[in-house]
This record gives sequence, C-alpha cells and structure tokens, in this order.
Amino acid sequence: MDEVSLLKIGIERERSARQHAEKLLEQKSAQLYELNSNLEQRVAETLGESQKFGLALSSCNNAVAILTPNLCVTWCNDVSKRLFNSPANDSESLNLRSAFKVANKDWSWENIIANAGQDQTSRFEIEIEIPESTELLTLLFSLTPILDSNQNTTSLIFVATDATELRRTQKTLYEKETQYRLIIEAIGMGLIDVSSTFKVNELNGTAASLFTNDVTEKSFFELFRLTGEHRNHQDFFQNSQNSVELQITREFSAFETERWFIASCVASSDSEDPSYRVTLLDITSRKLMELNLHDAREKAVASNLAKRKFVANISHELRTPINAIVGFMDLLEAAEFSKEQKEFFNAMKISSHSLIELTSDLLDFSKIEANRLKIEKNEFEIRSLVDECVNTFGNQANEKGVSLTLSMQDNAVSRCIGDPARIRQILINLISNAVKFTQQGSVKISVDSHQVNDTTSNFLFRVSDTGTGIPAELQEIVFSEFEQVGSPFRPSSGGTGLGLTITKQLVELMHGEIRIQSELDVGTDVFVQIPLQIGDRMKDSGLRSEEFQWTEHNHRISLLIAEDDPFNRLYFENALAQLAVDFRVAENGNEVIAILEECGDQFDGILMDVRMPELDGLEATRRVRNMLKSNIPIVGLTANTTIDDRVDCIKAGMDYFLAKPCTIKQIEEIVRMLHSKSRSPSNL
Ligand code: ADP
Repeated sequence: MDEVSLLKIGIERERSARQHAEKLLEQKSAQLYELNSNLEQRVAETLGESQKFGLALSSCNNAVAILTPNLCVTWCNDVSKRLFNSPANDSESLNLRSAFKVANKDWSWENIIANAGQDQTSRFEIEIEIPESTELLTLLFSLTPILDSNQNTTSLIFVATDATELRRTQKTLYEKETQYRLIIEAIGMGLIDVSSTFKVNELNGTAASLFTNDVTEKSFFELFRLTGEHRNHQDFFQNSQNSVELQITREFSAFETERWFIASCVASSDSEDPSYRVTLLDITSRKLMELNLHDAREKAVASNLAKRKFVANISHELRTPINAIVGFMDLLEAAEFSKEQKEFFNAMKISSHSLIELTSDLLDFSKIEANRLKIEKNEFEIRSLVDECVNTFGNQANEKGVSLTLSMQDNAVSRCIGDPARIRQILINLISNAVKFTQQGSVKISVDSHQVNDTTSNFLFRVSDTGTGIPAELQEIVFSEFEQVGSPFRPSSGGTGLGLTITKQLVELMHGEIRIQSELDVGTDVFVQIPLQIGDRMKDSGLRSEEFQWTEHNHRISLLIAEDDPFNRLYFENALAQLAVDFRVAENGNEVIAILEECGDQFDGILMDVRMPELDGLEATRRVRNMLKSNIPIVGLTANTTIDDRVDCIKAGMDYFLAKPCTIKQIEEIVRMLHSKSRSPSNL
C-alpha cells in the first residue's frame, strides 16, 4: 500500500474517531444537563422545605435554637431572642452559659451537657438567674443532639418554655390547698380523695381516724351507706352540688355506736382522670338529738291522740245522761211548781243547758282536732235558719233590756246548699256571746249575700253589739283554744273558751273567713263570710206551711220505740204521750224483730236507737228490710252526728235520722213527718 493510501486510511480513521468522540460528548453533555436540572429542582425543593421549617420554628410558642456542642447559639427563633433578652441580630454571638446562670445548687451547664443523652432528647427543669434581674426564671427545656456520620455531636437543638408563671400558680394552688386541708382538719372535718372508680385514694387525719384499719383502695360504697334520701352513691358523686347524709358501715367503723355524717362532694376538673373530693362533717350528736326529739314528738302525738279520744269518748258518753236530764226538764216545764221550786228548776235548767253546750263544744273540738268533722251538703232555707237562731235569744235579750234585731237583705238568696247545723252553730255562738257580753243597748244581726257566679253566693253574716268589747291586743287570742278574755271587771263568762275557736274552724272548713272588730266599752262587730251553693229557688219550706193539729179527729199514729237506756226510754215515752202518739217499747233489736213479727202492721214507724245491746239498731234495720221485707219508716237515734254515722244508718236501710239529745220539738217534727207519710195515698 502506498503512502497516500495509508494516509487516507489514517485520516479516515481519525475522522470517524472524532465523530464518535463528538457523539459521546453530545450524549454526556445531554446527561449532564438533565442531572443539573434535577439537581436545581431538588435544591429549590430543599430550600422551600427549610424555609417552611424556618417559618414554623419562628412562629412557634417555644423558644427554639440550634447550639454548638459548647452551647453557642448558631440559630434561634424570635421567642428565644426574647427569652435570651438579646437584640434581634446579635443572637448568634450568644452562649447559653453567659446568657443564663443556673440557680439550682445541684446543676451547672457542664453537668447538663454531661447529662444530655448522646443520641436522644433529654429534658431538664432548672431555675436560672436572669442578668440584671432579681427574679428567677423556671426553664423547662430539652436538648437533642445532631450527629455526624461518625456519631459525633455536631450541634444541639434546644427547645425551651418559660414555666415560671405555671410553677408559681401551681405553688400558690398547693399552698392554698394545704391551707384548706389544715382548716378542714382543724374544724374536725374528714376529707377523702376518691378515684374515678370510687376507690379511696387518700384521707386526711380526721377521716382516717373514723376507721379501724387503713381503708385506702377500699370502695367508698363499702365504707359508707346513704341514709335519709333514697339516692344511690353514683348520684351523689355525679350531682355533686347537694349534700347527703351518710352512715359509716359497722364493719369498718372505729366506733362502738352508729355515726352519721353530712357529706359533700366536689369533682376534680381533670376530665381525663376524674376524681372526687368528699368532705365529711360528723353530725352524730345532732342526729341523736333529732331522733330523741322525733321519739318525744311521736310520744306527744300519741298521748295527744289518746287525750283527744278520751275527751271525745267522755263527751259522747256524757250526752246520753244529759239528754235524759234535759228531756225530763222539758217534760217538767208544764208541771205546777211553788215559787221556790220554780227557781230551783230554772237553775237546774240553765246548768243542764250549759252542760250540753260544754259537751258539744268538747266533742266538736276533739273532732275538728282529729280531722273527723265533715261539712255536710243539705238544702235549707237561710232566712228561717237565721230567724230561728235569733229567736232563741229573744227572751234572754228581753230580760236584760237589750234590743235584738235581725235585718236581712230582701233579694238575698233564700235556699242554699250547705251544712245548716254548722251554720246554726256559728250564729248561735256569735249571738250568744253578743247577748252575754252586752248589758245595755243592742245586738244587731244582719245577713247580706252577693252572687259570685251561677251556682255560688257569698253570705256575709254580721253580729254587732254595744257590749263590753274586747281589748285590741286580745282580739287575736280569742280564737285560740280555751282562751277567755279575763279582766278584773269582767266575771268569768262560764264558757269553755272554745266557742270562737270552734266557730273559726267551722268557718274555715266551709272555706269562709271570720273577722272581729271590737272596742273596749263600745262594742264588738263580728263578720263571717261563707260561700254557699245556691239551692232550688222554686221550692218553699213545705213542712212549715203545713199546720198540724193534734186533735182526736186526726188519724192517731202508732210508733215502736227501740231504746236500751231506761231514762231515755222514759223520756221518749213521756214525749210521745204528750204528743198523743200510741207507742210500744222494745229494749233491743231482737225485741224489735219479735214485735214486728207479731204485729208489724199496726206501726207507722220505728224510732230505733243505733247502739243497743244484743242486736244493735243497724243490724235490726237490716233484718227488718231483708228478713221481714218491711218498708216501715225507720228513724235512727244516735249521739254520733257525723256524716259517716248517717251513711251507716242509710246503708243499713234507715229512712231518717234524729241526733240525740233531741228536744220535744224535734220529736214533734219527726212525728209530724211520719204522720204525713202514713196519710199519703201510697201508705194507706
Ligand atoms: P266561751 O265559749 O267561753 O264564751 P268564746 O271563745 O266564745 O268562749 O269567747 C272567748 C272570749 O272572748 C270570751 O270569754 C269573751 O271574753 C270574749 N268575747 C267573745 N265575744 C265577745 C263579745 N261579743 N263581746 C265581748 N267579749 C267577747
């Protein structure tokens, strides 16, 4: 090969080698470019991240700084600058050793560095002195080492909080709590810390002394049981505002006898681990006193009840013989007496009437006290009732020269529904007092009514007198039991002092009101207001309009009297004889049945005592109705006048009812009514 060819080959090789190298260079530079742009992107990203971290660290509330292992500050956030008290751009020249002097005796920066962990975060709480200040700062901080590939510490991350205020508050709280604990201990109160599972955590000295052994970890429910209110323990802890009464359980109690406490509970504010603080105040002596008082009260109530029952029984029993006495005196009224005998008779009459009043008062009073007095609802005519009451005192007033007048509003409702017997009793009491305490002048009774609605009318009864009057300071107590207004100038009135008490109670039982206005030596005004139901306006007083003559032309009626008491029997016999009534007598229920079986047809009615030996009036009535199938009218005679007694009579099959003691007038009215029945076509 010639030299030229060789040269050409060489040039060719050189050209292709250059082309190859250029291509390689191009490839490499493309790779380099891509690498470079990746790098740029990563640098930008890293820069962004570190900016974010920087921003986060700057805005966080803790002081954050990066330190050399020798505690020189290389970077710090604003909070740190404030903490180090260093100018904004001078922080880098800071060293913690010079910035803060460790105040705790046991600590120095050297042993803090020595104690900081080599590869983990270490936490410290130290007190440091701030230059140019007398105050100590409580610093809570952590140190986290940053290590190089050879595990050597290159820098430290310092994160700190100023805990001065927090610790100060905690200290004050602790001091306060200690103080309260001491106070509670000093006043002898027990204090128990109870966990969220109601186990005893801790007790103060007083609480611990209640138990024989250490009770920590015992359930509060085992140690105490709730008394008084029926609430459960959980309730006590959950509704901690209220106090409850507790009793220590015998098993744990350090005492021989029962112990009572008032307990209050306060829940801790820690919602994650709630606990309760229970204070206990020993109330045993108060409780024992209460129990004694309760016992004494029970005994007093029982003895009061026994006393009332005794009074009620005695006054009830007294009524039977008094009934006989008064009845016989009524019969004797017509007899011929010498002047002296007449005087004795009158004295006996006054005394027996006082006795009746007294027993009635006592009976009423004991019934009201025992809540046994019931107000009845019967229709009656108010005008004739008031008339009758006023007329009762006509003679007495006349004899004293005192005028007695009644004025009644013309358009007053005439028929009412209420308890006429009790209204009569009220009026009689008031008029009797007015006449009794008036020596001259007048006693005026007035009745007004005003309609409240379609069914009810309010009645105002007023009894005014020109008598002795009642001193102002005593006007209230006249309504108290057994009170009489004593005065050196006023002789005893001879009453029980119960009249106005009963009157007031009766008025109140009828939902009314009573008021007294009185002036000494001028007179007394008593006002009584009672709401009454309006009765049937169309009816008039049927019985009154009918005049009945006891003449031989009339059909004579025949009655059967059943009465076991010989005196009462004698009284009825005489009364009926005076009224020209034929009668036969039975001494008990069995005799009633026997007589009716023998000659039942001849009687127009039976006066039947309710209480009789062998067979009482109620059972005898039942047999008359059920066994003998007789419709004969039966009038029950009883000293018990409550509505319950009446209901018993009616249930047994009686038609009427006569309260003992009864006057001849009342017997006459009953006889008249039985007579009218026996004349009515249905009975002929
Ligand atoms: P008593 O049943 O003993 O009469 P009251 O309760 O009716 O008792 O009355 C109590 C006292 O009130 C009487 O003893 C009397 O002194 C006084 N009193 C009541 N009404 C009058 C009155 N109209 N005028 C003066 N004193 C009266």
